[in-house]
Amino acid sequence: LDKEYLGMGEEVGIFEKDLSTFFSRTTLCVSSGTAAVQLAIEACNIGPGDEVLVPSMTYVATFQAIKATGAEPVACDINEETCLVDLQDALSKLSKNTRAIIPVHYSGGVGNLDELYDFASKNKLRVIEDAAHAFGTKYKNKLVGSFGDIVCFSFDGIKNITSGEGGCIVSNDSKIIENIKNSRLLGVEKDSDKRYNNSRSWNFDVSRQGWRYHMSNIMAAIGIQQLKKFKKFAIKRKQIALAYDKLLSSNQNILSLKRDYENVVPHIYVVRVNGLMDRDGLREAMFNEGVEIGVHYNPNHFLTFFKSNNDIVLPVTEKIYKEIISLPIHPDISNNDVEYVISTLKKLLPFYSNNAK
Ligand SMILES: *Cc1c(COP(=O)(O)O)cnc(C)c1O
Repeated sequence: LDKEYLGMGEEVGIFEKDLSTFFSRTTLCVSSGTAAVQLAIEACNIGPGDEVLVPSMTYVATFQAIKATGAEPVACDINEETCLVDLQDALSKLSKNTRAIIPVHYSGGVGNLDELYDFASKNKLRVIEDAAHAFGTKYKNKLVGSFGDIVCFSFDGIKNITSGEGGCIVSNDSKIIENIKNSRLLGVEKDSDKRYNNSRSWNFDVSRQGWRYHMSNIMAAIGIQQLKKFKKFAIKRKQIALAYDKLLSSNQNILSLKRDYENVVPHIYVVRVNGLMDRDGLREAMFNEGVEIGVHYNPNHFLTFFKSNNDIVLPVTEKIYKEIISLPIHPDISNNDVEYVISTLKKLLPFYSNNAK
C-alpha cells in the first residue's frame, strides 16, 4: 500500500518470477482460477463449435470457463476409487469436434497423468489441467505445474495458498504464454512488460477479444508472502489429512479417499458415507455443534445451464455425489479439532444414515 501503485505492476512481476522459480517454468498471474482456465482454452484457439472433455465432478467454475469461450463442456464420469476423470468414459465421448481435455485434480490427487497425456496425444487433444486443488502436489517427484501442456491454479481465499483472489497459468508453450499476456489485459498488445515497470501503454493496438483478467499489485503482494509460508501450510494440511485417515481407518461406514499424502497437498478432505440419507440434515446438525462440513460437488451435468439435449448418465458420479461430505481442513485446525470433528460426526451419523443405525 505504501508503494501507492495498486494495479498490475512490479509486485505482479515479482510474484510471477517467484512462481516461475517454484514451478521451473513460465507462470502468468491472472485475476482468478476461472479466468486462468478460460484464457488457457482460448489461447489454444478453442471456441464455438468445439468440445472439451471435463469431469462433471468439479466446481462450476471449470464448466463456466469452458462455456465462456463458446466451446461446449462434455461431462465425463469419474473413477470410483480416485474421483478423477475416467478415461474409458472420456474415450466414449470423443467426437470430431473434441479439442481438449480438462482433468480436475480433485482434492489434490492427480491419478495416472502419464495415461492421461497418452490419451490426449493419441486423440490430438490439448490438456488444460485444472490444478486449483493441487498446488504443491507432486507426481513422480515432479511438482504439478512443472510439466504438462497447460496447468491452471487458483489463489482464491480457501485454496492451498491465496492472494485474496487470483490464479495463474503455467506452460512451456511460448505461443500460449504470449497470447495470454495480451488477452488478460483487454487484448492490449505488449502491455504486460510495461506494467512490470509500473508504467503502461498509451498508444497501442488491439487485434482480438481480450478480458480484464490481470492481477493487481495488492493481490500479488499477498501471494508473495503466502508462497513463502507454503511449506508450513503444506505440512499442516498433510498432517490433518493423515490424522483424519487414522481416526477413520477402522470405520466401515465412513470411507476416506485414498490419497498418498507423501505427494499430495490436500485442498479438501472428502469422505464417502455409506447409506447417507439426509446430508442436509447432517450438515445442519454438525453446524449446530460448531463443525462446518461441505459438499464437493453437486455434479455439473445436473445444472440447468449444462444439461445437454441428450440425457447423459454418469453412473459413478451419480452414485458417489450423494454420499460425499468434506471435513474441515486448513492450517489453523488443531489435533483436538480433528478429534472433535470425527467424534461429532460419529455421534450424529446414526440419525442421518441407514447403515450406521
Ligand atoms: C477454486 C476452483 C476453481 C476456480 O478458481 P477461482 O480462483 O475461484 O476462480 C476452478 N476449479 C476448481 C476445481 C476449483 O476448486
